[in-house]
Order: sequence, then C-alpha cells, then structure tokens
Amino acid sequence: MQRFEILDKDAMGRICRIETPHGRIETPTILPVINPNIPFIRAEEMKKFGAQAVITNSYIIYRSMREEALEKGVHGILETDMPVMTDSGSYQLMVYGDVEIKNSEIVEFQRHIGSDIIVPLDIPTPPDADYATAESDLRITLEREREAKELLKGAENLLAVPVQGSTHPDLRRFAAGEARKIGGDIYPIGAVVPLMDAYRFRDLARVILEVRSALPVEPIHLFGCGHPMLFAMAVALGCDLFDSAAYALYAKDDRYLTVYGTKKLSELNYFPCKCPVCSNHDPEELRRMEKNERERLIAEHNLYVSFQEIETIKQAIKENSLFELVEKRVRAHPNMLAGWRQVKHYWELLEKADPKMKRKFLYTGIDSLYRPAVRRHVKAIKNVELPEEVLVSTDFGIYANIYLRPVFGPVPAEMLETYPAGHAEIPEEDVVEEEALKAASEALMELMNSHPEKRFKVYVSKVWMKHLQNLPPNGELNVLS
Ligand SMILES: [Zn+2]
Repeated sequence: MQRFEILDKDAMGRICRIETPHGRIETPTILPVINPNIPFIRAEEMKKFGAQAVITNSYIIYRSMREEALEKGVHGILETDMPVMTDSGSYQLMVYGDVEIKNSEIVEFQRHIGSDIIVPLDIPTPPDADYATAESDLRITLEREREAKELLKGAENLLAVPVQGSTHPDLRRFAAGEARKIGGDIYPIGAVVPLMDAYRFRDLARVILEVRSALPVEPIHLFGCGHPMLFAMAVALGCDLFDSAAYALYAKDDRYLTVYGTKKLSELNYFPCKCPVCSNHDPEELRRMEKNERERLIAEHNLYVSFQEIETIKQAIKENSLFELVEKRVRAHPNMLAGWRQVKHYWELLEKADPKMKRKFLYTGIDSLYRPAVRRHVKAIKNVELPEEVLVSTDFGIYANIYLRPVFGPVPAEMLETYPAGHAEIPEEDVVEEEALKAASEALMELMNSHPEKRFKVYVSKVWMKHLQNLPPNGELNVLS
C-alpha cells in the first residue's frame, strides 16, 4: 500500500494524502491534542471543526489506565474511529526531566493499544543547548528510533521519527538525514515550542528549512504548533502536519486566536469571525458567562479559526497563490517577517519545490522579490536572442525589443503576454517600492553584461535614473520626458 502521496504543490507547501490503519489523512492538517483523562472536547466532536485525526499521550495512558487501554485500545479509550497518533512521553521528559519507562516499553505499548502513528521516546533538547549536549542527546534519540523501527518490523502502524538537534542548524540537518536513513512514515520536528512561545520565528524557520533540506519530499510534522497565525508560513516552508493543545490552553486564559495574532477577550468589542460561536455571541456575553462555559466556547472558536485557516491554505495551494497568502500573513508580526525572509538563504530548495507554471503573479510587497518566478525569469531571458542594437524602454507605448518592468527587469516583447512577467500585477513604477526598481535595474545590467557584443539603447522614465547610473559600457541611457 502506498502510504504517502503528494496531490498538489505550491512554494514548499503541498496537499498530501497519508494512509493510516484507521483511514486517510489529507494534509496540511492539525491533530488536536486530546487529554485521555479529562477530554475537554471529545475526539468525535473534533470532526465538526474539521479534524481528520487526533493526537494523545500514550505515556499518560500507560500511567493512569494501562489495563483498560490494553483491553479497549486507544480508539476505545478516546471513543473514536479517527486515526490516532500517540506521543511517547517526550514532552514529560522535557518538562520533568525524567520518565519512568524505557523506549522499547512505550513503543510496544503504543503498538498494543493500536496507535496509528507511533512516536519513540526521543529526547527533546531545548533551544540554545550547548553543542555537546545537543549532540549526545541526539545520539540517544537516533538509537531509540532505530530500536523502534526494529520493534515495528511488519507492523501496520506508522512510525514517526522525530528530528532533534536544538537550535544548531547543522545538527538538525544531520538528524533529518539520519532519520531518513532509519525510514519513518512521518518526520516530526521536535522541541520547537519554546521558539514559538518566544516569537523566535527566525530560528524556527531556520530549523524547518534545515530539516527540509535533508528531507525534501517526506511528510513533516511541526510538533506543538497550534497557532493559526503560523500555519501558512509553516506550510510554505514545507510542514504538513501540526498538533496542538493551543485551542484549549489559550481558552483557559480567555485568549482568542486569530490569523493575525492572539486577542484577550477583555480587549474585544467585536468578534472578527463568523464561526458558530462568534455568530451567536458577542464578547460582552462571553465575559459575563461562567468560566467553564466561556472556556469551552473560546476553545471552539479557536478550533474553528484554526481549521478555517487550513482550508484557506489548501485553496491557496490549489490556485498557486500560497506566496501571496504567506506574504500577507507574515505581516502579523515583525518576527514572522524575519522568519519568512530566511527563505532567501535556501533558494535552491525553494526553486526545486515551487511549480514553474502558475496563472498569475500578484505583487504584495518587497517579499515578492524572493519568489522563484522572479529568479527564473532573470535566468531565462539571458537565452533570448537579441538584435545587434537592443532598444530598451519603460514606456509600453513605444516600440522596443525589451521593456523594463519593476521586479522582473527586462521583459522581451515576445514575453509580454506570458507568465510570470506578462501575468504580473505590480504597482506603477512611481509608487512601487524602490527595491523593486533596484532589482529590475540589476537584472537589466546583468543581461547587458552577458551580451557585451550588443549595444543597448535604454529609454527610461525619471524614477529609474538613480538605479541605472552605473550602466555597463555597451549601454546608452536616455530619459523619457
Ligand atoms: Zn469565531
């Protein structure tokens, strides 16, 4: 049985299908965390928000209801027929520093209770750990993962092989490469919650991109990511699965999730949402409610808004507008902008993943300059045949061989109707950001330098002048009045 299939792609994001013993999961998606002892919202109810699978903690089950679980299975305990992923107690290891169970025991236990996706007892090395610690933790993690792979030989359960390595980029990449050799069905990126809690999205993006570099195709799970603000960026960086208790944890503190960030209920006069909770209540009503009732309703909103964002992202992947969506979403916080801009350093990875043909290119700001479509265009035009004397103009009304456009730079006349440059919506040259003119001017000068034998007569409007002062010797600059 083929367990994993990619259906659609955009940027580094994908829509994929993962087959589990309890059915299919279509990614990207979120696995809501269910506490087996005190289910705040029951697993079956999660379907109404859009959940296709849930995650629970096998260590808690092992400690508090072992016999019952061995008899009923984890699906019986949670009373659901959905795929269930089980964590191993690594989280408890991170919080309490110790757990009273061996890796082999917890892996076998997860298998016996019929978990669809089993996680070995990996060591979650926190961010900023010193190199030696991160390395020795990783060695133990990899040993345990190899042991789990061995124990699950012939089993139908899926195996998650977590990737650790703290905030050391080379260790993360190494861990991902080793995980790939072990051969999992899903690769979770572990111990990143402290980065998300501290808004260290630059470090987070770096970790994801390093892991993606060594696992370019495989399904990646971002452990503990549950804020809808982050989903679009994380998907575009290559993450497929999320899990989180955020919906409940935030609700407990009267915090209301939106795709632009977190709001305190006490600050809200209006609900910027039309989910069933927000349609039927206003913030003041919620504030006057009993704590339990209020917590439950905020948690429901948090789940609705999270799954709604997942649908928005999937639609964006379908219509190849994920870059446009992410460039808008990352403006929710400067640190997200800094996170997303890490893609500049992973150009080849992005180039390989991103589809070459799309319907249109919508400029949203200077981050649009980093899209592969722009770089591909600049590369492609170097192979276009040119006459001895090349006429370049920024005025589309006059005859020219090449037209100069913000962002893309030189656009040969015959490419004016084709994707990307011909299908691009960009603000006019007198209002667009200077960076868009600068990038375009540099692309033109690059083209001129690659054809030193040709002469370029360049006619530009005034706004371009300062960017074209250092035209190569085979060019002549004229200002259009
Ligand atoms: Zn709502």
